[in-house]
Amino acid sequence: MSTPGDISQLVKTMIREVPDFPEPGVQFKDLTPLLADADGLSAVTDALAATAAGADLVAGLDARGFLLGAAVATRLGTGVLAVRKGGKLPPPVHSVTYQLEYGSATLEIPADGIDITGLNVVIIDDVLATGGTLAAATRLLEAGGANVVSAAVVLELTALGGRDVVAPLRVSSLHTV
Ligand code: AMP
Repeated sequence: MSTPGDISQLVKTMIREVPDFPEPGVQFKDLTPLLADADGLSAVTDALAATAAGADLVAGLDARGFLLGAAVATRLGTGVLAVRKGGKLPPPVHSVTYQLEYGSATLEIPADGIDITGLNVVIIDDVLATGGTLAAATRLLEAGGANVVSAAVVLELTALGGRDVVAPLRVSSLHTV
């Protein structure tokens, strides 16, 4: 059984830091080494799932949140819903557009074929940065009728203030920088 300190250290040591990607000034946090490691993936999945007990459904955010969300869902015994970037899903969709530093982005979920009305949903993603993506995903799922109870991420970039942007949503992070 890993302690929160163990998990935090694991994440710290298994993330690859990529300076100036995808643009100058951004320190990209690449979780590939962590996710590709059997023990790393298992430990992170357990730790994320421990924050999400009682959820009816896991929502994974495009794209690394798909991998983590599906893994967490199998631990919890729930299904997983992929929250996609705009234009990937056939209609009808629920859609939300939000502002980025430059331009805007859209997230979508199916409006047909699944019914998330009244479900307690936990959102899973890799990184919480400015919080714009998580805030938009929360609005989107709520527009579909779900009750977003919490979110969990592997890594939180505290200087960017994402936690305040999504407040009062409860957010768990396995490692903070
Ligand atoms: P934000 O909306 O600013 O909180 O950004 C969150 C989304 O962008 C997540 O889905 C992350 O995958 C990605 N992201 C933002 N900043 C970084 C970063 N420094 N390293 C890796 N991924 C990032």
